[in-house]
Amino acid sequence: MWDATIGVIEGAAGVLLVDTGASLPEGAEVRREVRELTGRDVTHIALTHPHFDHVFGTAAFPGAEVYGPVGLGEVLARDHQELWRDAVRHGLDPAAAAEAAAALVRPRHAVSGERTLDLGGGRRVLLANVGPGHTAHDMAVLVAGGDGAPEVVFCGDLVEESGEPQAGPDALPRRWSAALDRLLALGGDDAVYVPGHGAAVDAAFVRRQRDALADRFGVS
Ligand SMILES: [Zn+2]
Repeated sequence: MWDATIGVIEGAAGVLLVDTGASLPEGAEVRREVRELTGRDVTHIALTHPHFDHVFGTAAFPGAEVYGPVGLGEVLARDHQELWRDAVRHGLDPAAAAEAAAALVRPRHAVSGERTLDLGGGRRVLLANVGPGHTAHDMAVLVAGGDGAPEVVFCGDLVEESGEPQAGPDALPRRWSAALDRLLALGGDDAVYVPGHGAAVDAAFVRRQRDALADRFGVS
């Protein structure tokens, strides 16, 4: 409904989902689609940041191991009413928002710095705590390339393609451009960058967005 990106990374032994959708029904729909795509259930979840349109579907994946940047779990526990308000303000049905807010899943695994997940069959994924910026807790997911395939970086809402990057009351705007520097260092010039909203972009796009954010918030 909000054009939010959801990533699926399949290994020989596991399936990682990047973000879980904006409601429990949306999460359930993604769960069905992943089963169709891979023939398997999601085993791991990486939550990029604590906004409703990225975390409200998590309870639709019972049994999955959930990862998030350190501090994200505390935000979900503390600010669930604010998440509910934000979802309703953006047009989610209040009852659906209440159901999702009550069922919020806190990550069992908090990522500070970097952490590698081995999904089997040589498929390795790096979870990198590159924030703060869009929120106080922003995590990126780097999928290694190989066989001529480029690396892929899931950026969360540190990068947006379908609209201007959204800086809400929980953003740390003056630190955002540094987070994008870390993101660019992670993926390099040849990676595919997947924004939190909109179509995949290249490093030049991310660099332009970094410079625009630095201008907008008075950072060099
Ligand atoms: Zn967001």
